[in-house]
Amino acid sequence: MTTTDTTIPTETLRRAVQGTVHEPGDPGFADAHAIFYRHLDAAPCVAVSATTAEDVSAAVTFATANGLAIAVRSGGHSGAGHGTVADGLVIDVSGLDTIDIDVESRTVTVGSGATAGAVTAAVGEHGLVVGFGDTGSVGVGGITTGGGVGFLSRLHGLTIDNLLAAQVVTADGTLHDVDAEHEADLFWAIRGGGGNVGVATRFTYRLHAVPQIVGGLLVLPATAETVAEVVRITREAPDELGVIVNLMPAPAPPFMPAEVHGRLVIFALLAYAGTPEEADPVLSRLRAVAAPLADLVRPMPYAGLFAADEGDYHPVATSTTGFARDVDESDAARVIEVLSERLTDPGLQMAVVQLRPLGGAIARVAPDATAYAHREWPLMFNVAAIVTGVEHLDAQQSWIESLAADIAKGTPGAYVGFSLCDDEEQVRRIYPGATYDRLAAVKRAHDPDNVFRRNHNVPPA
Ligand SMILES: Cc1cc2nc3c(=O)[nH]c(=O)nc-3n(C[C@H](O)[C@H](O)[C@H](O)COP(=O)(O)OP(=O)(O)OC[C@H]3O[C@@H](n4cnc5c(N)ncnc54)[C@H](O)[C@@H]3O)c2cc1C
Repeated sequence: MTTTDTTIPTETLRRAVQGTVHEPGDPGFADAHAIFYRHLDAAPCVAVSATTAEDVSAAVTFATANGLAIAVRSGGHSGAGHGTVADGLVIDVSGLDTIDIDVESRTVTVGSGATAGAVTAAVGEHGLVVGFGDTGSVGVGGITTGGGVGFLSRLHGLTIDNLLAAQVVTADGTLHDVDAEHEADLFWAIRGGGGNVGVATRFTYRLHAVPQIVGGLLVLPATAETVAEVVRITREAPDELGVIVNLMPAPAPPFMPAEVHGRLVIFALLAYAGTPEEADPVLSRLRAVAAPLADLVRPMPYAGLFAADEGDYHPVATSTTGFARDVDESDAARVIEVLSERLTDPGLQMAVVQLRPLGGAIARVAPDATAYAHREWPLMFNVAAIVTGVEHLDAQQSWIESLAADIAKGTPGAYVGFSLCDDEEQVRRIYPGATYDRLAAVKRAHDPDNVFRRNHNVPPA
């Protein structure tokens, strides 16, 4: 049930929180519910910028008392636009951004509104890492509750595999300090279950020593042979190598030579956790696949992979995601054929297929250990289109779906972090079988009225 702003006793809420309550027209209102994918923006009737866990609790209690739908916003990068909600209440946790590093115990405790980039930079000062994804402005709230797939996942596991403890506000407004020994079901559910079981206010992660990486961008010509070879090499590589292989048209000069502009290339972002000597065997193999069109791979700190300022970029995009067993030459030929066909579509800015080799430490965790169940798949993929305006989105959807089906070849499963669609079929792909059932049981125990439903929702059992 939702209600309109004229009936909401926001004064009660203002008295209950230390943070700021924003209503439409207030100066901070737009920022408090802003999301990365602006075209998915929705108009809430109130937003609370929380400064404490108690603020979060008060906001949850207020929303339920007044029949308001709740959206939880950390970094605002949800591809489904779940960081805001029409006519509801946005709990903006971005002000919960403290970062407390304990170098001796190799742990960091952060507020759930810190960005991945801020945490990475802070722990990087000590030669330490906790792996998030490929983009610094993503919030730790969303990426951690989703799983967290990044350059270090093959070596050190998903973000959730390094989560030691968390604080969670559940639907009745109570605060829970959870870890493997305390409220283990809640701890299990927030590691991959998205925002289904509550609002995380704080996370404690294990840190690893990675004083140096060899990383950056390697651009190779894209043919069926080179794509399949790059996938093969990266899958066989030591766990120290993390790669995101993008198949996409080459950007314009001066970044790339004029003669390749617009041609499909392998745009590989990579990180090898080690010294240049250690990285050399696998990097040499990659560089030997074809003469690189650009090679910006160099020794750097891990935090060097993330731009300090990503600019004010808000793409209008659609995509789909899944897992694959392999991408061989014939799969690669199909991808190249379809992408090449689309590149002249009206309104299309960019079509891209992204391949992420997985395995390693991800696969060494049991599929039922966390609510991220997809441990066995060697590859994650995304098929995406960025367009010049929302009117061009629909025209992209069917080829995206059909190419994704070709790549997936029947593998079930999807990663919540990259899932735009949130219908029941997709939710069951994200949370297969026993994972769905256990999440539904945790929901029944902690959120029987499905207060937290603005997400890839698993209703209470
Ligand atoms: C440009 C870009 C790059 C990305 N790269 C990667 C990547 O490399 N690897 C990867 O794994 N993912 C990646 N993602 C996906 C990203 O991890 C998810 O979209 C994630 O949900 C975003 O988190 P957020 O806090 O920024 O988003 P928000 O929109 O603020 O939150 C998204 C959802 O997460 C849940 N949530 C957020 N905060 C909390 C909290 N404190 N407690 C409980 N639930 C919460 C809620 O359900 C919320 O609706 C990327 C997304 C984008 C847009």
